[in-house]
Amino acid sequence: MSRPTEQAGRVDRVLVVGNGIAGLTAADTLRGAGFEGDLTIVGDETHAAYSRPALSKALLHDGDDLSHELAPPTHGATELLGVRATGLDVERRRVALDDGTDLPYDRLVIATGSRARRLSDLPEELTLRGLDDALHLRSRLAEKPSVIVVGGGPLGMEIASGCLAAGSQVTLVSQGVPLLLQLGPHLGEVFTAAARERGLTVVDTEYARLERGGAHAGASRVVLDDGTVLEADLVVTAVGDVPNTEWLASSGLVTSGPLTVDSRGLVRPDVAAAGDLAAFPTPYGIRRIPLWSSAIEQSKVAAAALIRGQEAPTLHFQPYFWTEQFGLSLKAVGYMPVFGPPAYVDGGPGGPALMRWAREDGTGVAAALNYRIPIPRLRRVTQQAA
Ligand SMILES: Cc1cc2nc3c(=O)[nH]c(=O)nc-3n(C[C@H](O)[C@H](O)[C@H](O)COP(=O)(O)OP(=O)(O)OC[C@H]3O[C@@H](n4cnc5c(N)ncnc54)[C@H](O)[C@@H]3O)c2cc1C
Repeated sequence: MSRPTEQAGRVDRVLVVGNGIAGLTAADTLRGAGFEGDLTIVGDETHAAYSRPALSKALLHDGDDLSHELAPPTHGATELLGVRATGLDVERRRVALDDGTDLPYDRLVIATGSRARRLSDLPEELTLRGLDDALHLRSRLAEKPSVIVVGGGPLGMEIASGCLAAGSQVTLVSQGVPLLLQLGPHLGEVFTAAARERGLTVVDTEYARLERGGAHAGASRVVLDDGTVLEADLVVTAVGDVPNTEWLASSGLVTSGPLTVDSRGLVRPDVAAAGDLAAFPTPYGIRRIPLWSSAIEQSKVAAAALIRGQEAPTLHFQPYFWTEQFGLSLKAVGYMPVFGPPAYVDGGPGGPALMRWAREDGTGVAAALNYRIPIPRLRRVTQQAA
């Protein structure tokens, strides 16, 4: 069904830029809603869409090939892979590509995600964002190198866990207690204790700087705030992400940083954006929530809004986060970090536990640590806390 909408004429051609989970979900949603026109996806990676969260979990820990991680797409779109979008003309409705061609659209989904923030231009600095990064890191770990991971967030901790499991000696350089900023003090301490028990060395610093050089070629040095120099065969940084929006500079929509969308994921009636690059209205202001489930929920809403305009529902989003590291598996629903001790709904400290916190604003957070529970039930536990 190609159908006219009130705002901007017929919708015969939809172009999706970005072949990650946001682009894939938008395309599947459009087809699911009956859109039968031309659907094209442009992605600069040469791989078909894959599970990015699995890169620092199954792929690093278990040597998984990721083939069973993501259901095959249902969109039947024309996929242009290994092709980068370089510019957008919103008046002419065309997207320029790095092969010198451009593509027209009636509706556009911008889903180019984000990339790893780097601490240096040194080629020795490894980051983990894409499948190629993960395969490279995994192959380097076969030599059991000593490793420094810079960054005590969920990704840094998962990488450290994977490197330890591969038999490396690992030092984690963190601003304060790992995971404190993302999860809060209770869970931060639980994960840090498990990590130390498994042999992780944790070093606290306000900032870290990378330098080339060391005992042998290819080694790198990390300089801490007090001048201490750490050295290892391999340095991996996990210090945040940067939205991939520079290609939009010519469009006038944004020159860098996040692209702001409305509560339906629209930038304008014929352009939607979803996923890690999009900042959207939340109860805590307009912000990015660069999580897998956030990308999925945003893109479902945005795809519907591109076709149905103001008739489409707005985004009502409750964050869902999970991590697996150092023998612990956590699922959490609600806005984190959380402060103070948890109330135990089931289980208790030191073992499998279902926990909840009540936030000051009346919302709840529920977390399952090494505890099997379906996500819908976990969501209901957050309401108990309210
Ligand atoms: C290693 C790792 C582990 C993670 N683990 C978790 C987790 O446990 N739980 C969780 O909730 N979240 C996790 N995340 C975050 C989650 O993966 C992201 O929130 C999600 O993948 C965002 O999807 P996206 O489609 O917006 O962006 P992306 O997945 O980044 O996809 C965007 C795609 O667009 C491409 N692209 C960029 N620029 C252009 C261009 N100009 N032209 C064409 N294509 C372009 C990119 O190469 C990429 O393929 C993890 C992220 C990483 C890196």
